[in-house]
Amino acid sequence: MKDFKITPIQAKRLLGHVKQPDDWFGLKYNMNLYRGCQHQCIYCDTRSECYQIEDFENEILYKENAIELLRKELATKRVKGVIGLGSMNDPYQPIETELHLTHKALEVIAEFGFPLHIITKSSLILNDLEIIKKINRVFATISFTITTTDDALAKIIEPGAPLPSQRYDAMKILSDNEIQVGISLMPILPFIEDNEENIKAILEKAHEAGVKYIIPAFGMTMRDRQRNYYYQRLDEYFPGLKQKYISKFGGNYSCGPNNYYKLKDTFEKLCKKFAISPRIIPYNISKEEQLSLF
Ligand code: SF4
Repeated sequence: MKDFKITPIQAKRLLGHVKQPDDWFGLKYNMNLYRGCQHQCIYCDTRSECYQIEDFENEILYKENAIELLRKELATKRVKGVIGLGSMNDPYQPIETELHLTHKALEVIAEFGFPLHIITKSSLILNDLEIIKKINRVFATISFTITTTDDALAKIIEPGAPLPSQRYDAMKILSDNEIQVGISLMPILPFIEDNEENIKAILEKAHEAGVKYIIPAFGMTMRDRQRNYYYQRLDEYFPGLKQKYISKFGGNYSCGPNNYYKLKDTFEKLCKKFAISPRIIPYNISKEEQLSLF
């Protein structure tokens, strides 16, 4: 793995409030312990200018005072809503094995008895299995991002992340430990991943790994710096594809898949067949409500 400059920063606040209701991820609060991400997915939206991360390819910033802030902020929260981790960086990117920021944050979350939703691409999460089991006495759900089951393709599009096969193995272990596991099925890259075989393979492996829900978003979003970087990588690994993107999407932010209805249909049929919910199974949901999700 390439070297990154690792820089400590001081944060003013840690927990953000998520607009309610958050039907997609079921969150009340979210937080980021890191800025930047060593997984370096070629499609990563965090490269967009609005996030103001100047050197996404080379530098990781971490919030040195995060744990102290988390403790202070949780002590003042009246509502024990779900805390989300993993929206603009991966909480289990490799630097976590040295800094243990996510681990320490989970210890505080367990101590205060808050529910948790982690989104990750990394099997390193298994290092925290015991503390997640403790949080799960209240509620814990883990969503793994999967965009393909093809390890060779993932090495190109998600170069710094553990392979999809390793993610599925981690899902199975979490699921065997009675942790609710799901998949964040996004993005699905047009012309690369938007085929029925891919959706079918993702669902079949999900079923084998004990996945309970999938949060789908077919297609991708693109803007400014993120689009420039993605197009450079298309030229490098998929010659000729950039021209197809330009002619189909122009400057659009939202870039849908080819064959949307076929993909949706395959997805829904397989969710039904495997009794996987096609959306998050949130905290505080009754058994009857859970059944109505399928
Ligand atoms: S894991 Fe997520 S945050 Fe990290 S580079 Fe990939 S898409 Fe971006």
